[in-house]
Amino acid sequence: MTDTLQIKDHIRQVPDFPKPGILFYDISTLLAHGAAWRATVDRMADIVGKMRPDKLIGIESRGFLVTAPVAYRLGCGFVMVRKKGKLPGSVIPHNYELEYGTDTVEIQSDAVKPRDRVVVLDDLLATGGTMRAAIELLRKVGAEVLGAAFVIELDFLGGRNRLDVPVSSIVHYD
Ligand code: 5GP
Repeated sequence: MTDTLQIKDHIRQVPDFPKPGILFYDISTLLAHGAAWRATVDRMADIVGKMRPDKLIGIESRGFLVTAPVAYRLGCGFVMVRKKGKLPGSVIPHNYELEYGTDTVEIQSDAVKPRDRVVVLDDLLATGGTMRAAIELLRKVGAEVLGAAFVIELDFLGGRNRLDVPVSSIVHYD
């Protein structure tokens, strides 16, 4: 079994991406390593399974990579939260504030039923703005949000303080 430290060993840090001065935590190297990726999915499935969800929610786009295999392992449904204009049919939008301006996330109207027990997954927690918006959207459609789970958490940004659900992450940077 690959432990947390070994999972961390497969996350690459890329300076100046996508802009100068930003250090990007790249999970491509983790995805490309069979044993480390399987250990990551197994750890996520253990954490998320304990919350007894009906459905898992993945946030575009790297969140999908994490959520789909965990949903498969747990036998849960997998539902996508996407940026505006990407989902076909009837959708429910939610606008949220960014540092500069606003953005919109959407979910298909029939994807989650009122009182569905859901856990929301993403690859990385930074400021928490993206996860917070997804949680707000899910509550708008009546879901019960049991928790949020991440592969990576940037502790120094304090994103978990913006979330009012239990937060779990496998790998931390402080
Ligand atoms: P937040 O909204 O918490 O500030 O940013 C988290 C969102 O941005 C996640 O959806 C995540 O995929 C993406 N993100 C921000 N910074 C990074 C990074 O360094 N690495 C990766 N893999 N994703 C990032």
